[in-house]
Amino acid sequence: MIEMVDVWKTYPNGVMALNGIDVYIEKGEFVYVVGPSGAGKSTFIKCMYREEKPTQGSIIINGTNLAKMKERQIPKVRRKIGVIFQDFKLLPRLTVYENVAFALEVIEESPKVIRERVMEVLDLVKLKNKARMFPDELSGGEQQRVSIARSIVNHPPVVIADEPTGNLDPETAWEIMDIFKEINARGTTVVMATHNKEIVNTITKRVIAIEGGRIVRDEAKGDYGYED
Ligand code: ADP
Ligand code: ADP
Repeated sequence: MIEMVDVWKTYPNGVMALNGIDVYIEKGEFVYVVGPSGAGKSTFIKCMYREEKPTQGSIIINGTNLAKMKERQIPKVRRKIGVIFQDFKLLPRLTVYENVAFALEVIEESPKVIRERVMEVLDLVKLKNKARMFPDELSGGEQQRVSIARSIVNHPPVVIADEPTGNLDPETAWEIMDIFKEINARGTTVVMATHNKEIVNTITKRVIAIEGGRIVRDEAKGDYGYED
């Protein structure tokens, strides 16, 4: 499903963020990516959806090598990968409904399909009754639920999240995790960078630890392993 072979990333300023990453993630897995600040977690995640291009190595997702892909092929591949950010990145002038529908309108789905799919995912994240609201009328947790709905409305086989609970209070973070668990239970592969020790140590899943751009630990049922 996701395979990285000897992946290196050096930024233009000379910073070596990834130094030879090899990893294989099976379809349907749930993987936490942990490690200290500056370890390379975000770069690892960004390479997975081709926000960054690796300097060397291959990244194969569902048979496509992201590292070799032409710029014009990127949008098509991105549609098969849901991405969720710490700061939500919702479009402020669009309603909840429109934020979620946007990805389907871009690919010119029929209005009927769009309506069905949007309502189905808003139901999953329990926001059907807030479909007409704007992002700034919602709590942080609700905004993150909208962004999760948006990321899965195309039914991608993979969802990648970079610190999705980083801006949320502990209770809200657990609610968000319930949604990720549900998405994963439906067969979607989930890869999540996180600093949330409580969550990693309670909802036990595979843990990949990155330090200095290298994988230093990879455990099927791991723990967080840091004190922060
Ligand atoms: P983490 O997510 O674990 O905090 P990052 O992947 O963000 O780590 O960063 C890894 C290293 O790459 C750090 O030294 C960081 O400063 C550097 N870095 C990240 N993004 C860039 C960039 N766009 N340009 C230059 N250096 C970067
Ligand atoms: P339910 O299935 O619960 O009856 P509705 O289909 O009536 O829900 O829609 C719930 C919310 O979604 C409403 O607030 C409505 O404004 C919004 N909505 C439905 N379709 C659209 C659309 N095409 N564009 C914008 N908002 C929509």
